[in-house]
Amino acid sequence: MELHHAMNRASASNDARHVDIGALEPRAQLALLARVLHAEGYTDHNLGHITFRLDDGTFLVDPWELAWSEVRASDVLRMDERGQQLEGEWSITPAIPLHIAVHDLRPDVRWVLHNHPRWVAVAAAQRRLPAPYDQMACYIDEDDVAIFSEYDGLVAAESTAMNNAMALGDRNIAIFANHGVLVVGPTIRLAYQRAAMLAWRCRLGWMVETAGGARPVPEGVAKRLAQSSTKRGGIAHMLEMMVRQELARDPSVLD
Ligand SMILES: [Zn+2]
Repeated sequence: MELHHAMNRASASNDARHVDIGALEPRAQLALLARVLHAEGYTDHNLGHITFRLDDGTFLVDPWELAWSEVRASDVLRMDERGQQLEGEWSITPAIPLHIAVHDLRPDVRWVLHNHPRWVAVAAAQRRLPAPYDQMACYIDEDDVAIFSEYDGLVAAESTAMNNAMALGDRNIAIFANHGVLVVGPTIRLAYQRAAMLAWRCRLGWMVETAGGARPVPEGVAKRLAQSSTKRGGIAHMLEMMVRQELARDPSVLD
């Protein structure tokens, strides 16, 4: 009987810990995505941005002045399809033309994120995606990654933004040479999974190759894992477990 009660308690407790990210308002989702990706190495000061297309065709965007680790729901701005600010106290990044161009070219995605994550920066400098050396690294499909080798330093220029957006094509990840990364997704779960697993793959690749190299996961196995990782909208619970920890660390993210 005691065991039965304990199991009931455990079950009730687990229900209480369940986080339904889709039930949160979009501003809270965007703030949480910024926070959990900061924990994955998306840490380049205020030089990253996340946009989300709302049902009415306007967009949410995180403020230029805030690091991804400190964004709260109430900090999130709203802008129109040309990048003109509609709501919010902070400023929109001057590099917003990249997001506008991607949203314009890819109506199938709602989440667009750009940053200079510390691990992917190594791959961006090398202009390549490292080979997959473990199972998690295989969650990134090589064929889903564009490598864009042109870099002119004019990150806020509309022509550069359009070239970068076009380099993505119908893929979901682009690595920009000597610059950073662009990741898109139809859902917050897939956007997070792609961004986090890309950082994982680049970090592991760097470590393995620095240690003298190793045999990568065979191509056919890697492809199978990549395909299975996006079935049913992505790997269940991966984002949820990170969000739960962030909510415990700083519940004010929802403010
Ligand atoms: Zn950038």
